[in-house]
Amino acid sequence: MAEIRVHELHKAFTDFTAVKSSSFAVRNGEFFCLLGPSGCGKTTTLRMIAGLELPTSGQIFLGDEDVSFKRASARDIAFVFQMFALYPHMNVRRNIAFPLVSQGMARDEIGRQVEQAARTLRITHLLDKPVSQLSSGDRQRVALGRAIVRQPLAFLMDEPLGALDAEFREVMCHELRALHDRLQATTVYVTHDQMEAMAMADVIAIMNEGVIEQLGAPLEVYERPASVFVADFIGAPSMNFLPFEAGLASGDDAILIGPARIAVPPLREDLSPRALLCGVRPEHVRFDDASGLRAEVLATEYLGTRTVVTLATAQGTTVRAKVDVDIPVARGDHVGLAFDAAKISLFDAASGRALRS
Ligand code: ADP
Ligand code: MG
Repeated sequence: MAEIRVHELHKAFTDFTAVKSSSFAVRNGEFFCLLGPSGCGKTTTLRMIAGLELPTSGQIFLGDEDVSFKRASARDIAFVFQMFALYPHMNVRRNIAFPLVSQGMARDEIGRQVEQAARTLRITHLLDKPVSQLSSGDRQRVALGRAIVRQPLAFLMDEPLGALDAEFREVMCHELRALHDRLQATTVYVTHDQMEAMAMADVIAIMNEGVIEQLGAPLEVYERPASVFVADFIGAPSMNFLPFEAGLASGDDAILIGPARIAVPPLREDLSPRALLCGVRPEHVRFDDASGLRAEVLATEYLGTRTVVTLATAQGTTVRAKVDVDIPVARGDHVGLAFDAAKISLFDAASGRALRS
């Protein structure tokens, strides 16, 4: 296994810049997720790491070796695509063996490696079945078998679960992570699904329009988003943003929204008066009659363990709260809103960047 380092990687197509000076490092054995909306440059980044696309500028290191301009076949990396190209007329054993046969490995050694990969994926009982008779889940496992049998330095996966229905995607999500825990293989996993990334990743890099906006552990990007984009993209229902206008001084630990004084984490910078956003996640909103931040309940949605309440503040902002199901609340109710101060993020409205606190 090996570390992957990407330094100032840049990719311009004739009419479009897909990746803009991205830098990141994937540690040996790490499960690293590239997360972002469709078109943000995830696949292009992955294809450059694989050697399927050449960078316009920048460098890619696999371990200590600069592989930026090496052929794909000369990089010891396995690429798992969304549409697994299995050979339907071959049985499972031959499908998994294929990359080793191409390498010219000795037959009995191939047999051993295939058995080992099948054991790891728990598909030994399927080895002699034709691929055409397998369920989609088992096909997914065979495709993974073909990737792991080579024992590459790293795995690249481009939305491998994208074609599966929601329920099965969740099962495969757990399986992939369990497989990773067994193999401890350096993995770059691309997805537009924040739930997948949150569930599987050691580290998430959130991409937007060719730029990595934030890099961190799932909890870190969730609790301390670096920008409005990240805050909005991660978490469902997404973060609430309450606009207000203020000048703030370093050390200030409260803001005013309308008549309401809202406690926030102490700021680390001075700010001239400007448009700001107070960001708070739905699960950190409470109802508190004493609060001056008044709101009307527009709708309630019962989710079994929690209720999602949609409200409009007196200032006209829509806020969603995720509260205990036993809290009595109905459409038309007027309530006061209070927030968990430690969990609030403040943003500059114009740039979208988080204020330091
Ligand atoms: P993602 O995987 O995040 O959905 P991609 O990396 O596939 O995004 O694409 C990023 C952007 O680059 C898209 O706008 C896409 O249309 C553009 N793009 C990708 N490949 C090419 C290409 N070969 N020529 C021109 N534009 C491309
Ligand atoms: Mg893509």
